[in-house]
Amino acid sequence: MENDKINGKIQLKGMLLGELENTLTELGEQKFRAKQIFKWMYGSDINTFDEMLNIPKELRKKLSESYILNTLRLHSSQVSEKDGTTKYIFETEKNHKIESVIIPDDNRITLCLSTQVGCPLDCKFCATGLMGYKQNLTSGEIIDQYLLASKYFNKKITNIVYMGMGEPLLNYECSISSLKIFNSELISNIHLKHITVSTSGIVPNIYKLADSGLNIRLALSLHSCFNEIRNEIMPINKKYPLAELIEASKYFTNKTGLKITIEYIMLKDVNDRDEDIKGLAKLFSQLPIKINIIPFNSLKHMNPEGLSLELKPTSKERIDYFVSKLKEKNIQVMVRDTQGEDIDAACGQLAIKMNK
Ligand code: SF4
Repeated sequence: MENDKINGKIQLKGMLLGELENTLTELGEQKFRAKQIFKWMYGSDINTFDEMLNIPKELRKKLSESYILNTLRLHSSQVSEKDGTTKYIFETEKNHKIESVIIPDDNRITLCLSTQVGCPLDCKFCATGLMGYKQNLTSGEIIDQYLLASKYFNKKITNIVYMGMGEPLLNYECSISSLKIFNSELISNIHLKHITVSTSGIVPNIYKLADSGLNIRLALSLHSCFNEIRNEIMPINKKYPLAELIEASKYFTNKTGLKITIEYIMLKDVNDRDEDIKGLAKLFSQLPIKINIIPFNSLKHMNPEGLSLELKPTSKERIDYFVSKLKEKNIQVMVRDTQGEDIDAACGQLAIKMNK
C-alpha cells in the first residue's frame, strides 16, 4: 500500500482487517479492537478518533498520535443544472486535487471514483491523460471518495465505477484493497456485483484480477479494433496490443463467468466507419461482451493540442446507424447517456486544470 508518512503520521484508513489487527498487536493492544475500528472507519462518517466511542480513551490517544484518520478534504463541488450530476474536487494530504462524480439516474446513484492523481497513459480523447501523472492514490484515498461523496450527496450510492482519473490496474494493490474493504461483511457498504473496474488494457493485471477471486466486473476501454488506430489514440496499445488483450479478456471471462463491458467512445472518421463495425464483429465472435457506445465529450477545457485537438464527435445519426448494424450482427450494444458535460464531469472530461 502506497502510504508515505504525512507529518510523521500514517494513514490508518485503507488498511484491511488483517493489517489493522497487526497494527494493534504492534501497539500492544487486543486484536478484537481491529473489528471495532474497522466498522468506525468504513461504516460511519466520523472525523476523529475521539468519536470512536467504544474504543478506550488511551487507545484513541495512541492512534491519534501516530495515525491519520481522514485522507481527503472537500475542496469544492459543482452540480449540473441539466441532470443533477455532481462533481466533487477533493484534496489529498499532499495537496493534490482529484475528482469524483456522482451520476444520479432514476433509482440508481453511481459514483465514478479516481485511482490516480492524473494518469500516465495519455489517451488522446481523455482530459485526465492530457493533464499528466502525479501519483497513485492510497487505498484510504480511494475509499474516502466513497465515504465523503455519500456524506455530501446525502443519498445512498448504489453503484461504483472505477472510471475516474487514472488507470486502476496501474494502481493495482490499492485498488484491490479498496475493493476488499467495500466487500467486507463487517460493513454494509456496497456489494461487488455493483462495482465495475475499468482498464485501458494492462494485460498482466487483467490476469491477476481474474485470479484474485474477487469476481469483480470489468470494463475494457477499447475505442478501436485495429492496432494502427489504437496505437495512435491509446499509446498503451503499443505495449499490450489487441491480440494479447483479447486473450486476457477471454481468460477473465472463463475464470469469472462475467461478461466484459467494452467501452467505445465514438470518434468521427476514426472508429465509426463501416470497417469498424465489421472489425468489432470479428474481434468479438469468440468472446461474449456487451458494448457501451459513448458519445465523445469536448476537451476544450484542457486546450488540447495535436491529435486530441483533431478529434471530433460522431453525429447522432451515425451513432444510430453504427448501433443498428452491430445489433444486426447480434452484438449486445447500448448508447450511454452523456451526463455532466456542462460541468466538465462527463466521461473522459475529468482533469484538474491547475495541475496541468
Ligand atoms: S482514458 Fe483512462 S487510462 Fe486513458 S488517459 Fe484517461 S484515465 Fe488514463
